[in-house]
Amino acid sequence: MSIDVNRIREDFPILKEEMNGHPLVYLDSGATTLKPQKVIDAVNNYNTKTTSNVHRGVYQLSNDATELYEGAREKVRQLINAKTASEIVFTKGATHSLNLVAQSFGLYHLKAGDEIIVSELEHHSSFLPWQHVARVTGAVLKFIPLDATGHITVDNFKKVLSEKTKVVAINYVSNVMGYESPIKEITALAHEVGAIVSVDAAQAVPHMKIDVQDLDCDFLSFSAHKMCGPTGVGVLYGKYDLLNSLEPIEFGGEMIDIVGETTSTWKDAPYRFEAGTPVIAGAIGLGAAIDYLQSIGFDAIAQHELELREYAVSKLDELGGITIFNRDAKTGIISFNIDGVHPHDAATIYDTEGICVRAGHHCAQPLMGWLCQPATLRASFYLYNTKEEVDAFIEATRKGKEFFD
Ligand code: PLP
Repeated sequence: MSIDVNRIREDFPILKEEMNGHPLVYLDSGATTLKPQKVIDAVNNYNTKTTSNVHRGVYQLSNDATELYEGAREKVRQLINAKTASEIVFTKGATHSLNLVAQSFGLYHLKAGDEIIVSELEHHSSFLPWQHVARVTGAVLKFIPLDATGHITVDNFKKVLSEKTKVVAINYVSNVMGYESPIKEITALAHEVGAIVSVDAAQAVPHMKIDVQDLDCDFLSFSAHKMCGPTGVGVLYGKYDLLNSLEPIEFGGEMIDIVGETTSTWKDAPYRFEAGTPVIAGAIGLGAAIDYLQSIGFDAIAQHELELREYAVSKLDELGGITIFNRDAKTGIISFNIDGVHPHDAATIYDTEGICVRAGHHCAQPLMGWLCQPATLRASFYLYNTKEEVDAFIEATRKGKEFFD
């Protein structure tokens, strides 16, 4: 099930670039991924050959653009095994999708005393929309206690679940720890008390097969740019009846049914949530990214990332003096620090060696508190990374250790 990484690298033009006089070593795919030529071409083709607005033209060009745009929706449906393409809303990205759920559902359905379950593993984009809802409605935020290694467990989830729980908002894969949350089990328990489950899958969909019908979650959000697609476009999946019962949060062109002077009515989902001209080129690019990733295979991609991770962890252990915060993760993310070196100082060494890693709080300040760290370093692997790149990363780490010794 291994992948031909050298052939794959040919698909990514940016990998021919240098950074600071070194071949580019891109180990920051958790932040955003590189784009293959097929995605670049799909976006360019729309801009050069099919430019026109969707859903409103009565001419061929607009029909072609609409077909491409709606074709991308169908590709997303099939990717996550949604029941119908009407359950797929194109948004600006995971952050937009997560806010949409919080505002459309949370602000209208929650009241003082209701409980919202979150965790300290959440990215700010998963957590802050519900903090806002809690502040406005008087609902209460409850945190799933993390276990000793930082995992969300079903047993600990049960400790905070109650008859008052109305919403569970959790990540599928943590962007810092790379752990997979037990979404299916948590969703089943949440549904027993009548709560809805909103899943932040920004770090999951790019790396593994997802089946929303099997998970049975109510909402699931992700971004195209973390899966070889363009920036500025993402997806909100919602179970149709629930999605279609929600109020939009943005109003304007194309989302309406009938507009009156005092009241108006909305189109059915997904269009009621796509006010204005949608992210046409972005959605088409996402469709191309899905085709590209599926042509390689998610199981093969996941295995490749895991192999690189295990190799890198063993090499970091050989170096010594490195604290790894997510030793037992099964995804391609390593969060670590060089003992005694501030991550931002370390990052400057990686930069001069042509290596892109992330340093900071990773938009997860509650988790930094839990780890008792102001910040960490994060290397994140994807299908185009190689063992040779891991070697370069290890060599830069060794230099960093020496320099700051
Ligand atoms: N959730 C997780 C777990 C993430 O890693 C990110 C981005 O890093 C987001 C949400 C937000 O994604 P975006 O910035 O594309 O909206």
